[in-house]
Amino acid sequence: MTLFESVIGLETHIQLNTRSKIFCACKADSWGDPPNTNICPVCTGLPGVLPALNQLVVAKAARLAAAMHVERLAGESFFARKNYFYPDLPKGYQISQYNEPLAQGGYLDLPLPEEHRDGVPDGERRVHIWKLHMEEDAGKTVHRGDRRLIDFNRCGVPLVEMVTGPDLRSADEAALYVIRLRQLLRWLDVSEADMEKGQLRCDANVSIRPQGSTELNTKTEIKNVNSIDSLRQAIQTEIARQIREFESGGTIEAWTLEWDEDEGVLRKMRSKETEADYRYFREPDLLPIQLTEEERAQVVEALPELPLERRRRFVEEYELPAYDAEILTEERSLSEYFEAAVGALAGQPKIVSNWLMNDVLRLLRERGLTAGGLRLTPAYLAEIIRMVQSKDITTNTGKELLDKIETTGQSPGEIVAAEGLRQVTDVDALGALARQVLAENPDQVAQYRSGKTTLIGWFVGQVMKRSGGQADPQKARQLLEEQLRPS
Ligand SMILES: [Zn+2]
Repeated sequence: MTLFESVIGLETHIQLNTRSKIFCACKADSWGDPPNTNICPVCTGLPGVLPALNQLVVAKAARLAAAMHVERLAGESFFARKNYFYPDLPKGYQISQYNEPLAQGGYLDLPLPEEHRDGVPDGERRVHIWKLHMEEDAGKTVHRGDRRLIDFNRCGVPLVEMVTGPDLRSADEAALYVIRLRQLLRWLDVSEADMEKGQLRCDANVSIRPQGSTELNTKTEIKNVNSIDSLRQAIQTEIARQIREFESGGTIEAWTLEWDEDEGVLRKMRSKETEADYRYFREPDLLPIQLTEEERAQVVEALPELPLERRRRFVEEYELPAYDAEILTEERSLSEYFEAAVGALAGQPKIVSNWLMNDVLRLLRERGLTAGGLRLTPAYLAEIIRMVQSKDITTNTGKELLDKIETTGQSPGEIVAAEGLRQVTDVDALGALARQVLAENPDQVAQYRSGKTTLIGWFVGQVMKRSGGQADPQKARQLLEEQLRPS
């Protein structure tokens, strides 16, 4: 029996998070807006208008290119017209880049999970980026019964298209690539990268070959996947189909396939031979995009530390477990929050990490926030940890403070003072509470003294209750035991 290896390349379309569109001043993000409300003569292709390039689109595309370690960020690149007819493309052509793109030749390294590392050097899969270019989006066609409705809001929304080499070897690796890319896009503030909103779209080129072969066989293209799960399922389905075809002596044809999310099946859209000839030519209405050597150097220099580098540094510099480092670097502002809190506490990275992973992340999830938007600042978190460590407050009070600070914006010190939350460690006060509890519960005292010592927990609970949760439980226990000892 032949063992097969799959060969996968991805083509992603990334919606940049600029405020306005690529060639006009219309609002770029129309999510939730009524159809045809963010449009103008430029993006609807009326005669006599001229496009004007949004500089921020170039800046963001260049930043992404630099993060992909591109060998060549072009000093001069050009827009081209891609001509085709479609109802939601009012100009009859799309302004894109063709053979003179902004960037070529980069890579993204994917650390693979333990179980997928066999035979992969360093456990990392290097995914080559062949080409990165800018283009405008087309409109949207909506089917309502037997009518077709056109929404031009999406016309002229800035996109970056990025094409990888055939470097991925399984559906899981393809999914992992999209997860890492999404993380990076948000990290760089280039795109919101929400697949469900179409801000990150992905087509997959899939072929198979006998294991050990280096040949590239005929590939099929899968379109219309709009979640990471769909991407994984669609690729798995297609690999299985190609293997069946191959084993039954058939041939793989260069089809374009469409993933039907509801049915979980692939449908043939068209055979590749019928693909349109786009008659590309340089866009005559736009100047070349020029980046001086200085500007290109500046782009690289301004690049922040990237997620995987930061993850590695967290493990080395703070001696965090890989698991902690992974979670803390999932999102940039969280990783910055962590470092600021460690700074404010003058060390103890693992303690800070525990508070973040257990309690602060819960707070973020509940309130739908990112760490950058918290009123609970890193300095406040450090102050809470210090008060817990010096036994000024109990751990429970510390945890409750997180929500209180986030709601009121007050400092931990202010809330503790105003609400009288300081922990009761004073022996006289605690001793008095313990005596009261014992005096009021003679039956339990008798049971304890006759051997049911597990009741100690219940006594501690009574003291805690009386103190409003502020008693030091260890000290309370110690005092109770002393008082319960037969005299
Ligand atoms: Zn417009």
